[in-house]
Amino acid sequence: MRVLLVEDDEQLGESLEAALRLEQYAVDWVRSGEPVRAALGATPYDLLILDLGLPGVPGMQVLRQLRADKHVLPVLLLTARNTLADKVDGLDSGADDYLTKPFEIDEMFARVRSLLRRKGDSKISRLEVAGISLDPGDRVVEFAGASLDLTAREFAILEILLRNAGRFVSRQRLEEGIYSWGEEVGSNTVEVYISRLRKRFGSSLIETMRGVGYRIPS
Ligand code: CA
Repeated sequence: MRVLLVEDDEQLGESLEAALRLEQYAVDWVRSGEPVRAALGATPYDLLILDLGLPGVPGMQVLRQLRADKHVLPVLLLTARNTLADKVDGLDSGADDYLTKPFEIDEMFARVRSLLRRKGDSKISRLEVAGISLDPGDRVVEFAGASLDLTAREFAILEILLRNAGRFVSRQRLEEGIYSWGEEVGSNTVEVYISRLRKRFGSSLIETMRGVGYRIPS
């Protein structure tokens, strides 16, 4: 799952980014509303966490613009304001939920999981392919009657391949699924994870086509 975080408060932004990564989300953090439109156009995000009080373009305007652009991803608003009018205004403008600062990080994760379940439906439903059962919501993988303990990146790559079962997925697309912006991308990282997945699930699970990508046959 990939999250775009828009928050101008350095301290809060840093702690939210770190917490989200710990929970195995890929996170891109921007400090203002201006880059949001381009980011949503370029990267497939599963969720937007949007602070309302931003320098420059206000969060509410960012929200209205992205709904006008027909982006359907769930939006969780962060607001310092606590008046009924602001909440109603935010929800009317296309937000799915909001959190009033200060909030507990556990509450944020509860809201995030609920939004991903509600809006993502196809994204959150269990994937069953090639004898593997993967539950994106509970982050559980079962194979040959046993539950497997995958690392966050093994899980992310397996999820993308299962979701696209029968189709080849490019290395770049897999890299996008496991790296946040600015993270160093190792030149053979995807190959390393593919090889680990083959060790866990059998060498015939993932097909490679040179120059095209990887596929789990459906
Ligand atoms: Ca702010």
